[in-house]
Amino acid sequence: MTRARLIVLNSALGPLDYRVPHGMTVEPGSIVVAPLGPRQLIGVVWEPERLKTEEVGDNRLRPLIQAYDLPPLSAPLRRLVEWTADYYLAPLASVLRMALPSSGALEGARSITEYRATGQIPERLTPQRAQALERIGDRQGLIRELGIVGGVSDGVIRGLVKTGAIEAIEVTIDDPFPLPAPDHDPPALEPAQGQAAAELRDAVDARTFAPYLLDGVTGSGKTEVYFEAIAQAVRLGRQALVLLPEIALTEPFLKRFAARFGCDPVPWHSGLRQSQRRRAWRAIASGEARVVVGARSALFLPYPKLGLIVVDEAHEPSFKQEEGVQYHARDVAVMRAKLEEVPIILASATPAIESRHMVEIGTYKELRLPDRYGGARLPDMAALDMLQDPPPRGRWLAPELVRALEDNLAAGEQSLLFLNRRGYAPLTLCRHCGYRFQCPNCTAWMVEHRFTRRLACHHCGHMMPVPNACPECKEEDALVACGPGVERIADEVKALFPEARTAIVTSDTIWSPAKAAEFVARMEGGEIDIVIGTQLVTKGYHFPNLTLVGVVDADLGLAGGDLRAAERSFQQIRQVSGRAGRGERHGRVLVQTHDPSARVIQALVSGDAEGFYAAETDARREAAMPPFGRLAAIIISSEDQAEATATARAIGRGAPRRENMAVFGPAPAPLAMLRGRHRLRLLVHASRAVPVQDIIRDWLADVHWPRSVRVSVDVDPYSFL
Ligand SMILES: [Zn+2]
Ligand SMILES: [Zn+2]
Repeated sequence: MTRARLIVLNSALGPLDYRVPHGMTVEPGSIVVAPLGPRQLIGVVWEPERLKTEEVGDNRLRPLIQAYDLPPLSAPLRRLVEWTADYYLAPLASVLRMALPSSGALEGARSITEYRATGQIPERLTPQRAQALERIGDRQGLIRELGIVGGVSDGVIRGLVKTGAIEAIEVTIDDPFPLPAPDHDPPALEPAQGQAAAELRDAVDARTFAPYLLDGVTGSGKTEVYFEAIAQAVRLGRQALVLLPEIALTEPFLKRFAARFGCDPVPWHSGLRQSQRRRAWRAIASGEARVVVGARSALFLPYPKLGLIVVDEAHEPSFKQEEGVQYHARDVAVMRAKLEEVPIILASATPAIESRHMVEIGTYKELRLPDRYGGARLPDMAALDMLQDPPPRGRWLAPELVRALEDNLAAGEQSLLFLNRRGYAPLTLCRHCGYRFQCPNCTAWMVEHRFTRRLACHHCGHMMPVPNACPECKEEDALVACGPGVERIADEVKALFPEARTAIVTSDTIWSPAKAAEFVARMEGGEIDIVIGTQLVTKGYHFPNLTLVGVVDADLGLAGGDLRAAERSFQQIRQVSGRAGRGERHGRVLVQTHDPSARVIQALVSGDAEGFYAAETDARREAAMPPFGRLAAIIISSEDQAEATATARAIGRGAPRRENMAVFGPAPAPLAMLRGRHRLRLLVHASRAVPVQDIIRDWLADVHWPRSVRVSVDVDPYSFL
């Protein structure tokens, strides 16, 4: 190759051609450094025939600067990058960026300098220094990473290094990862598990694309089953990727994995330090990392010997990325498996209607695990009618739920109260003049967080202290909290049972795998009687002594009115119910609702999942909604409202007329303002046969808008805000 066509990591630029200098060899997939004006950019060599660009004469080409000594990105990964960019209408460079690490990891350096506290107290202990040292604790990292952890500038950390309170250490970063032992501690499988495991092992052996839906109630042993498929991939010297919906879930997963395989898998998530990321990326790219467990971003990494993909809790909405490239990791994972010609397992106790539909039309094969592992029974479920048996004024727990909590405490068993709302109260208002605290940047109420004594916006992160007086009428002590969040429920529990030991589990309290491990240890050690938590506690954990689950507000998820609202509520409450009675003891679930006759509640209480899914699926089919039809949202946003409106109208006027396709809007988005930007939305609804992406691409190419306006397309949207 004397010429090379590149995708460079700059989404504003198209493909660029370069000359390959003498002595340098590159091939499609090679990672290189190229000049651009006075700057240098990282790029990947691509097949020239697959990227259209203007031909430049040989004499005008600039030479490449460097080719990294790394394996080239494989052809299946290159096709995945193209497919993702095309399907989700994203720039190739933005997708490619997800496959590459920071430039530091591309270089071959084998050690870096990190910093950690020595335990020495500096002579001059300023408040900032004290805060930094307290927050850093026994953590280790780059100066910048410690600055972020300590909430101080890099200068403060450097000052602490000078005083000797923090020291530099050389870290070797390319230490090999331990190899999982496929036969370390294989479990005794029940017959149904054994059958499913055998089929999956065969699929790994066959090395062809084969999508499976591994469906079984919580506690039926899905993880043990897909571990057998992973073991087989490891035996064959291939790599396995496990995607989990949240990093907080990796902790219980790691424990189970280590028990089965004798060592930890290689983790990949946003919580890794730069040196850990670098080490993981290089081990993945070399094929040495055999089993990788990660958040959705692990999907685009360059596995040279991929043999299996597992998507656990595959129904989880958090697999949908809502910023940058708006892709759905579950769907892209299936595409990657197809391109790599390997099997993929979607595991779920409550599969999405989309996945069930793929089983119905014969695209996915279903493996169903019928019983709870070890013969444990599913918990008893009952609805509590909040109109018939309401809690006292200003309280949120119905008398029957309170009695059940009391019984459980007396029996020495653990309870869980589930409410998917962080903070103390979702709305604060002035009882004197009616003033409501709203976020200045978003169409959203400020949520009170009593622990930190602040009002916070859950959309943009804006914070303010809770004032003593109303900002409108200046009346003092007139502010009242409306509605409950988990902190308020925790207060109610403390008032009812002062002797009970409680824990709040939300993203505010469990923000790292280490925090999750601490919580698990306290639960297992019997140091907690009642957990109050958001959706973070609904999955992954296994606490044998947890026998009562109270769903504080089953109607909450239904309020949004988007197309998946009922399905999500059903999944969430089923998942949280699955926490009850997973050991020897029998579990009980009480669901508080204002509408016990709602279809979701009826299905939950009667355990008729099939009936619920059938009715939901029929409703979607009738309305031609996904998976029977297609949706795409076009979001127009700007700090200038008039500009956003004008652009949205121009796009609306240009809407193509097509058969079997309708365009709704533009209309203000439900979140009409977000992070200081005004937002309008158009919604495209089409039948499955309509090539929606091509139509939108052509349509938007004809409309022009100012640089300050952002137009983003969300294909197969999950959020309707
Ligand atoms: Zn007021
Ligand atoms: Zn906000």
